[in-house]
Amino acid sequence: MVNLKKIPPVDEILQYEEVKDFFKIYNREFVVSAVRKALGNIRNWLKSTTEEMEKDEIVRNIVREIGEVVNSDASGTLCKVINGTGVVLHTNMGRAPLGKWALDYMKEMAVNYNNLEFDLEKGERGSRYFHVEELLRKITGAEAALVVNNNAAAVLLGLNTLAAGREVIVSRGQLVEIGGAFRIPEVMKLSGAKLVEVGTTNKTYIRDFEESINENTALLFAAHTSNYKIVGFSKEVELSELVELGRKRNLPVMQDLGSGILCDLSEWGLKDEPTVQKCAASGADIITFSGDKLLGGPQAGIIVGKREYVEAMKKNQLTRALRVDKLTISALEGTLLEYLCGNPYENIPVINMLTLSREELKKRAEKLQMILKEKVGNFLSIDKIEIVEVEDMVGGGAYPATFIPGYGVEISFNGVKTEALSYIMRRGNPAFVSRIQEDKILISVRTLFEEDYLLIVDILKQALRK
Ligand SMILES: *Cc1c(COP(=O)(O)O)cnc(C)c1O
Repeated sequence: MVNLKKIPPVDEILQYEEVKDFFKIYNREFVVSAVRKALGNIRNWLKSTTEEMEKDEIVRNIVREIGEVVNSDASGTLCKVINGTGVVLHTNMGRAPLGKWALDYMKEMAVNYNNLEFDLEKGERGSRYFHVEELLRKITGAEAALVVNNNAAAVLLGLNTLAAGREVIVSRGQLVEIGGAFRIPEVMKLSGAKLVEVGTTNKTYIRDFEESINENTALLFAAHTSNYKIVGFSKEVELSELVELGRKRNLPVMQDLGSGILCDLSEWGLKDEPTVQKCAASGADIITFSGDKLLGGPQAGIIVGKREYVEAMKKNQLTRALRVDKLTISALEGTLLEYLCGNPYENIPVINMLTLSREELKKRAEKLQMILKEKVGNFLSIDKIEIVEVEDMVGGGAYPATFIPGYGVEISFNGVKTEALSYIMRRGNPAFVSRIQEDKILISVRTLFEEDYLLIVDILKQALRK
C-alpha cells in the first residue's frame, strides 16, 4: 500500500517530457485516457508486490507502461504478418503482396484527384470500366475486358447476364467449392441460372454436354478445378472441345479459370495451369479469374472475352453493386503494366517467389541461419539451427498437388514448448507465422522479404525471453 501512495497525480504525469511528446502525434483525449489506463495497470501490479519501491522506479515503470498502452491502442487490428510458411498465396494472409509499380501507382491515384470517371478528351463524364481494359486486351489478346470486385463476383455476373432464367451445363467433376464458401451450385442459384449437371464425378465426355442441350440452354460452363485434382480413371472435357460444340450449337462458352496466370511458369515445374492467353486463344467466349492469385495484383475479378458479352455485362445492374474503386483499378493497372513493359519475374512478388532458383533459396537460408546463430545461437533454450530442404506450395487454391522444392531454417529447442513459442510470435507486431514440425520451428525462406530476416530474430529473441 505504501507503494500506491508514491504514484504521482495525473496532472503531474501529463507534464513529463516523454508524455508531452505523445501530444505531438495523438490528440489530448487519447493520451489522457492512455495515461489513466496505464496507471490502472500499474496500481494492479503494485498491489500484487510486497517489496517497497523507490518513487523513481515507479515513475519509470509508469512511463514505460504509458508507451505500451499508446502503442497498442493506436493501431488497428490489421497488422503485418511475416510469412514463414512457404505458401506463396496464403488466402488467410492477404493472398498476393503487391509489387512496387502497383503501389506507386495506387498511391498517386489515392492522394490526388484522378480521371476515374472523367473523359479528359471530351471533358465529360466517362466510365471507370474504360481503365484497365486496354491493358488487359493487349496482354491477353481478348476482344474486351471488365473488372469487378473479385472472381466470385465475376462468375456471378457472367452467369446472371448470359443465363438468368435459363440452363447452364456443367460437368459433375467441376462443381467446385473454393475456400470461403464459394460453391459453383450456390453461385449458379444466386445468379438465377439453372444448373444442369452432366457426366460423373470422374468422367465427363463432350457427348454428355451435347445430349443435354435443348432450346432452354443458354451457356456451356467450365470451372478450373483449382484446389483439387481427380487422378486415375478420369476424363474431363477439354476447353477446345467445349468451344467447338458451342460454335456448332450457337452457344457461348464461359470458363472460370480461378487463378489467371499471365506468364508461363512451366520452366519452374508449374505446368498444369493454363495461361489466360492460351484460354483466350482457344476461343472461350468469357474467361474469369482473380486479380490476387497468380496474377499477383489486388483483389479483383477479371472478365475477358467477346465484346458483345462483356458489353452486356457492363450494362447489367449487378455491375454497379460489384464495382471496383480507384485503389483496385490503379493497383491493377500498375500490376498489368509490369507484365506489359516491365519484368514480372523480378518485380511481381508472387511470380518472383515462385521462380527463385534453388541456389538463391539456399543462399537465403544460409543468410537466415547465420543471423540467427549470431543473435540467438548462444541462448540456452536453443539447441540447433539447421538448414533443411522444404516443400513449398503455391497456395490460393492453385496447383493443389504440386510441392515446390525450397530451403528453410529449422530451429530445435531445449525445454521450450514450440506451440507456446509459436503463439507468442504470432501475437507480436509484426506477427510471425511459420511451420511447426515435430517440436521444431521450420521457417521457409521463399516467402520472406529482405527486411523480415532481422525482424524474425527480434521476435524470436523477445519470445524466448518470455
Ligand atoms: C479462387 C477461385 C474463385 C474465387 O475467386 P475470388 O477472387 O476469391 O472471389 C472462383 N473460382 C475458382 C475456380 C477459383 O479458383
